[in-house]
Amino acid sequence: MNVAFKQSVGPPQSLDAIAEALLLPTGVDGVYARTALFEQAATGLTTLISRYREPDTEVLRLPPVMSRRQLQQSGYLESFPHLLGCVSCVAGDEAQIRASVARCQAGDDWTGALAVADLVLSPAACYPVYPLVSSRGQLPAAGLKFDVACDCFRREPSQLLDRLQSFRMREYVCVGTPEQVADFRARWMKRAAAIAGQLGLACRIEPASDPFFGRGGKLLAMSQIEQALKFELVVLLHSAGEPTACVSLNDHRDHFGAAWNLRTAAGAVAHSGCVAFGIDRLALALFASHGVELARWPTRVRQALRV
Ligand code: ATP
Ligand code: ZN
Repeated sequence: MNVAFKQSVGPPQSLDAIAEALLLPTGVDGVYARTALFEQAATGLTTLISRYREPDTEVLRLPPVMSRRQLQQSGYLESFPHLLGCVSCVAGDEAQIRASVARCQAGDDWTGALAVADLVLSPAACYPVYPLVSSRGQLPAAGLKFDVACDCFRREPSQLLDRLQSFRMREYVCVGTPEQVADFRARWMKRAAAIAGQLGLACRIEPASDPFFGRGGKLLAMSQIEQALKFELVVLLHSAGEPTACVSLNDHRDHFGAAWNLRTAAGAVAHSGCVAFGIDRLALALFASHGVELARWPTRVRQALRV
């Protein structure tokens, strides 16, 4: 893998200095109102990523919530319980609900009236794909490919602009044989680097691991790196410190295939993989690299984004 940052652009601009032109605070860490300027970059990114879509890819745009039961069945609670956000709603009959509202109006705690619903906030765009594939029966010989996107939630409050609680994820997903998934990821590794090149981002692709929960999680993370199951395209967003993962390339092996009984045309347990683009992080990377004045971005970058 590349060890040095490819391409040298100037040092990144301080994100704090450009924050007020891009993301406005809403009173909660990691949740921002996005300005029109920021959205211009985000829209440009989504159209650029669409231009790279492979043929025979099914496009689905997903809501920010999904079935709690389905996320459980995918094993999310075993790996990332600390990141999960569940939907809870005011429950009870009319009198109970009125009493809760009255408690709120009196400045008392009313949240005891909340009951957990059958929904969670989607932590990644690809989770709804596997139950959907499962409902369709055996895979075709070529496997299946999806283009999915949604607003994601992860309970990781931070004051850093690149670590949000609510952010947008765009993914291409492949379900098929181990070879189909490996080829898919290899193709996307090249394309992710090509996209970053078109965007003029100084980046590198490196082995990575997921933020698994707890002490046991460290072992899982090490084994993930050893088996080369996850790579990230990272960009320097802060002038000092760690680079930021803007795209991840994941091989899930048979994790979802086993959880959802996904079968290849030959009857074996299917493998899956995905490439996930963090739209908000990529947009920030553009502003950090090229400055806040979009009109002064390099021409080829503006052409790539059609802005
Ligand atoms: P990190 O290592 O930074 O915690 P991750 O390994 O949890 O990221 P993935 O689960 O692979 O990230 O998510 C896919 C992409 O979604 C990431 O490459 C990143 O661009 C984006 N992303 C993930 N978490 C956040 C976040 N908290 N805020 C903004 N974007 C995020
Ligand atoms: Zn995914």
